[in-house]
Amino acid sequence: MTAFFVFCLVLIPRILPNAYWQSIFSITGVYVMLSLGLNIVAGFTGLLDLAYIAFFGIGGYTFAFLCSNHFGIHLPFLLALPVCALVAMISGFLLGLTSIRLKGDYLAIVTLAFAQIFKLLLLNLDAPVNITGGVNGIYAFDTAKIFSFKISSPENYSTWIWACALFVFVISFRLKDSRIGRGWNAIREDELAANAIGINVTRMKLFSFATGAMIAGFAGGVFASFQGSVFPNNFDFQQLVIVYCMVIIGGLGNIYGVVAGAIVLSVLPEALREYGGLRMMIYGAALVAIMALRPQGLFSGIPGFSKLMRRPDKDETGELRASTDLYYSLETDDGNRKTFTREDLPILNIQNLSLNFGGVKAIDDLDLTLHKNEILSIIGPNGAGKSTLFNVISGIYKGDKGSVTYRDHDISYFKPHEVVRLGIARTFQNLRLFNELSVLENVKISRFCRTKAFFFSILLNLKLNRKEEAETDKTVKQILNMFGKRLTGYRFDQKVKELSYANRRRVEIARAMATDPEILLLDEPSAGMNPQETIEMTDFIKELRDKFGYTILVIEHKLNLVKAVSDHVLVMDFGKKICEGSYETVSKNPDVIAAYLGKKGKK
Ligand code: ADP
Ligand code: MG
Repeated sequence: MTAFFVFCLVLIPRILPNAYWQSIFSITGVYVMLSLGLNIVAGFTGLLDLAYIAFFGIGGYTFAFLCSNHFGIHLPFLLALPVCALVAMISGFLLGLTSIRLKGDYLAIVTLAFAQIFKLLLLNLDAPVNITGGVNGIYAFDTAKIFSFKISSPENYSTWIWACALFVFVISFRLKDSRIGRGWNAIREDELAANAIGINVTRMKLFSFATGAMIAGFAGGVFASFQGSVFPNNFDFQQLVIVYCMVIIGGLGNIYGVVAGAIVLSVLPEALREYGGLRMMIYGAALVAIMALRPQGLFSGIPGFSKLMRRPDKDETGELRASTDLYYSLETDDGNRKTFTREDLPILNIQNLSLNFGGVKAIDDLDLTLHKNEILSIIGPNGAGKSTLFNVISGIYKGDKGSVTYRDHDISYFKPHEVVRLGIARTFQNLRLFNELSVLENVKISRFCRTKAFFFSILLNLKLNRKEEAETDKTVKQILNMFGKRLTGYRFDQKVKELSYANRRRVEIARAMATDPEILLLDEPSAGMNPQETIEMTDFIKELRDKFGYTILVIEHKLNLVKAVSDHVLVMDFGKKICEGSYETVSKNPDVIAAYLGKKGKK
């Protein structure tokens, strides 16, 4: 692909027939940049950002202010472009700060309003003081100069613009394949699950929004200098729709596809120009055809194309194998491994916890103590409040009353990602995996909260990033390897939505384990599994504690599993603890029998 860009950069500008095609080629480069930027916000992170084009405009007008006679500021070209990017980024950040908590349609409405207000300002801020030049825009910019080299010929402009596009392409690529990119993908797939494995969703969305704005601003500056003028019409809603089409046709999140989408949609209308009135019809028909035939984008899922991608699970001979076969051999022998048993050290303490949903007392004055390396099972009929209890511990809900203390921390008011960072990870009763991502990616995302590399470290692939990436890879494979032959017949690069139900449950546990927790909260880990799989899961839960030293709080319905694994059992009904003790004690308790058989009260 880099070769392709170099080709665009060096060769094409020299072979194009005339200045007209030269300029189309340059504009195509601008669109490539714009689509790649939007792809970060809408594709990677899944935010419907309709203010995007305004950031393009902010970049353009910033350039106009800085490099023309309009205000008499003549900033050097190479200095002006970063300023354009920065101003747009700050605007993006500020808009995001006020609106990023809104979801879906609401975010779209606020950002659309921002874009419209921006355009109105451009049109009307020409009196009483002339700031934007109104409909006439601003023109006659300083000559673009890189040091002493003047960019004036169309060929040189094309080369310069495509060099910028290459720069944005590299940024996109580096980000996508980093902890930040994985964090964004997680947010796009399932915000709550992302939060529950340690991603600060608000902050990461804001960062995505600002990064998109920065790229748009940069593209705006490049565009303005190329056109030599800026007008409000350059930055209106129509432009936004075109850029969205490019990203969607290319395939949201797919970098190659988006570059292709941008090229096709900027060249196609021009190529059809000679057909006059038919042109827009053909263009429209082509759009419809692409959307109908390849709704997932031009390039995603083409077998030959995706085969080219590196596979994570080829063996030395290049043959593709089930990942478990490949990595199972990695398992170190555990002859001299320590065995863990319950210790008498309380690490999680819940006191007088209550939570009401309207009139429903989901949790009613509940106490619970979990000891180091204990397996504590919570049982009780449907609707007893078990999952709600997990939601409170993991910070998704806040209790109305009472406290949750983990070691020395009162975590009652902690947010989900803070709870995970401290060392409590969970799974969900109704699987919340990142379905469109692979097994490996799902588990890799969990390393987000244990890694630190940020923007520059990632862009420049500095030591910190390299070290963390290698460590992430190793840890994740080790964890998947713990499942050994249980995770059968799957490949690391398979999307989790293609896995069997039991395997998906296992991946969810692996994902929780990859956050390095001390405590694992497992919500019905064997739900939906057949008897054989349930037995395996039972062994596995025991192994997690005995061999790997996790402390486990597990909600279960299957009593033989509970019987086999539990040090301690707590029974809930109507949000209340009705009894606790060893499995033997609990199973003989008349209240428990009544709750399970559905009798009302004691005789
Ligand atoms: P279970 O023990 O089966 O896991 P839950 O904790 O899911 O039970 O639910 C306990 C009670 O709280 C149920 O009556 C349920 O309807 C109610 N509940 C759970 N979550 C919510 C919510 N977000 N809003 C309203 N009611 C809820
Ligand atoms: Mg439940």
